[in-house]
Amino acid sequence: MALIVQKYGGTSVGSVERIQAVAQRVYKTVKAGNSLVVVVSAMGKTTDGLVKLANEISPNPNRREMDMLLSTGEQVTIALLSMALQELGQPAISMTGAQVGIVTEAEHSRARILHIETTRLTRHINAGKVVVVAGFQGTSSAGEMEITTLGRGGSDTSAVAIAAALQANFCEIYTDVPGILTTDPRLVAEAQLMDDITCDEMLELASLGAKVLHPRAVEIARNYGVPLVVRSSWTDAPGTWVTSAKPQGRSLINLEIARPVDAVEFDTDQAKVALLRVPDKPGVAARLFGEISRQEVDVDLIIQSVHEGNSNDIAFTVTAPILKRAEAVAAAIAPALRSESNPKSDEAEVMVEHNIAKVSIAGAGMIGRPGVAAKMFATLAEAGVNIQMISTSEVKVSCVVNATECDRAVNALRSAFEIEAGEAKRDEGDEEAGGDEGVGRDKLILLSPSSPSSPSSPHHPPVRGVALDLNQARLAIRQLPDRPGMAAKLFGLLAQHNISVDMIIQSQRCRVIDGVPRRDIAFTVSRIDGESAKKMLTQVAAELGWGEVVLDSAIAKVSIVGAGMVGQPGVAAKMFGALAEHQINIQMIATSEIKISCVVAQEQGVKALQVIHAAFGLAGSEKFVVPA
Ligand code: ADP
Ligand code: ASP
Ligand code: MG
Repeated sequence: MALIVQKYGGTSVGSVERIQAVAQRVYKTVKAGNSLVVVVSAMGKTTDGLVKLANEISPNPNRREMDMLLSTGEQVTIALLSMALQELGQPAISMTGAQVGIVTEAEHSRARILHIETTRLTRHINAGKVVVVAGFQGTSSAGEMEITTLGRGGSDTSAVAIAAALQANFCEIYTDVPGILTTDPRLVAEAQLMDDITCDEMLELASLGAKVLHPRAVEIARNYGVPLVVRSSWTDAPGTWVTSAKPQGRSLINLEIARPVDAVEFDTDQAKVALLRVPDKPGVAARLFGEISRQEVDVDLIIQSVHEGNSNDIAFTVTAPILKRAEAVAAAIAPALRSESNPKSDEAEVMVEHNIAKVSIAGAGMIGRPGVAAKMFATLAEAGVNIQMISTSEVKVSCVVNATECDRAVNALRSAFEIEAGEAKRDEGDEEAGGDEGVGRDKLILLSPSSPSSPSSPHHPPVRGVALDLNQARLAIRQLPDRPGMAAKLFGLLAQHNISVDMIIQSQRCRVIDGVPRRDIAFTVSRIDGESAKKMLTQVAAELGWGEVVLDSAIAKVSIVGAGMVGQPGVAAKMFGALAEHQINIQMIATSEIKISCVVAQEQGVKALQVIHAAFGLAGSEKFVVPA
C-alpha cells in the first residue's frame, strides 16, 4: 500500500462536475489499495475574483486581511470535495492549513513553511479516511495563530511539503495540461510533452515563468527527494516525472528556510573575453556567437550589459586553454561590427583577461530571498575581493574575480554560508547533467501503475524548455564606483526593502570619472517592485555619488533551459540567431550552466518565445488545447 499526496489545481476543481470527477479519481486510487491526502486549490478563478474585490475597496489592502480573504477560496473546495467523496461512500474529512498544523513564518502573503504536524493527518489516514487539505494556506506558530498564505500558486508547495513531511511514496500534481511541456501551450500550441525533467531544470523553468509548478514546490521536492509527477486531471496519461538526485537526509524542521545555499563552487581555469562598444541592434550577439560556435569554442558565462547611448558590451568566459581561439574569433569579428556602428567615435574593442576565476554559490533556497546574493557580495567585499562580472540564475550567483583572490573568496563564502570545507567543489560544469537518476524511481515502478517503465534517457536534446516572464522591470544604475563593496551596498539595500533581484549584470566598460573608475550595473526585479526600487535607489544614489537610476518596465525575459547544453558549443548562437532573424534586439544576456536568458522589448516577448521554441526543434505535430 502506498501513501500518495495528490494536488488538484483551480481548473481541475472549477465546477461541481469537476469536483465529482476528482472524487471519482480519488476513490479509485483508494480502492486500488492506497492511502491518500488530497490538497486542493480554490475553484477556478476564485482567488483572482477575491483579489479583484479587495482592490475595489482598497488600492493597497492590508496583507493580514488579504490572507484572511484569499484563504477562504480553498476552504470552499475542501468541504465540497469531502462531501463528494462521502457521497461515493468514501470516508473523508476536510482540514484547513491551521487544523493540519502547517506552520509558517508570520509573513503574510508570502509565508514559508517551517514545519508540518503529521499527527492529526496520520490519525485520520489510519482511520481509513481521505484527508482533504486546503492548499496555499498555513498558520503562524503558536500564540497569535494568524492565517497565512504562501503566495500565488502556492498549493503546489503545500502538497509537496506535506508529501515530504509524511514521507509519502510520491506526490501527484493534477492540472489542466498533460504534464510539463517544452513551453506554455497557451502561447505556443505546438508545445510538446516531456516524459521527465530533472528538478534542476524544472527549478529554472518554474522560476523563469513556467507557472505549471510553483518553484518552491520543486525546491522542496529536490531537497527532500520527493518523487513528483505532473499530470492531467482529465485523462489517465502518465504525465511528466520531475526527478531528483539522492537527497542528503535533511531535517523537516525549518522546512523551507533551513539552508539557502547548498554549495560554494569555484573554477580557476577561466579566461574572459569582452567586446566593448558593439552596436545595439539585432544580430550582433548572433554573429559573434555564431562564429564562435563554428570554431567549436564552448563558452561558459555570457553577459551583455545594458546599453548606454547606442552601444553594448558583451563578455564571455571560456576555459583557459581555448582562450587563444576565442580571442582570435572576437578580434576577427570586431572590425566588422565596428564599421557598422559609429566608425569614428565608438570603436568596438576586444579586451582579454587571463587570470580570472569564477566563484559561485548555488542552492534552491535563494529563490525569492533577496538577502542571499547581497550576503555573497558583502562577504566578498569584507574579504577585499573586487567583483569583475556577476551573472545570476534563480539558483546560482556567479562572480568573476581575480584568480589570485579565488582562495580568499571561497574561504570567506564557505564560512559565511556554513558550508563544510569538503562541500566546496570545483565546478566541473556538468554536475547538473548527472542529476537524473530518479530517486525512489525503482520504488515507484512497483507502487504506481502510471510511473514510467524505463529510467529517463540521457539523450535528451540540449534545450528542454523555453519560458517567458512578462512581469519584470529593468533597473540600471550608471557610474557606480568600481571597488569592493559596491554590489554589496546596492543589493543589501534592495534586500532590506525586501525586493528580490533576478538577473544582475555588471558592465564591462570601466570609465574614469572624477578620478574614480566606474561601471554601470543593471538588474531586473518584479514589475510591481520597479517604481519603489527606483525611488529608493535614486535617493541613495545622490548621497553615495552614484549616477542616474534608469527604469524600464516594458521588458520581457525569454529563457532556454537544459542540462544538456553544458559542453555543447552553439546553443547560445542558435538562440541569438533566432532572435536576430526576426529583428528582435537583445538588451541583456545572462547565463548559468543550464540556462540562457535574454531581455527583449516587452511587445516582442511572445514572438521571441515562439521563434526560439521553433529554432530548437521543440515544436510537436500535435496542438494542445488548454481547458478554459
Ligand atoms: P493549476 O490551477 O492546476 O495549478 P496553473 O494555471 O497554475 O494550473 O498551471 C498550469 C498552466 O501553466 C497551464 O495551463 C499552462 O498554460 C501553464 N504553463 C506555462 N508553462 C508551462 C509548461 N512549460 N508546461 C506546462 N504548462 C505550462
Ligand atoms: N488559489 C491560489 C492561487 O490562485 C493558490 C493555488 O491555486 O495554487 O494562487
Ligand atoms: Mg498552479
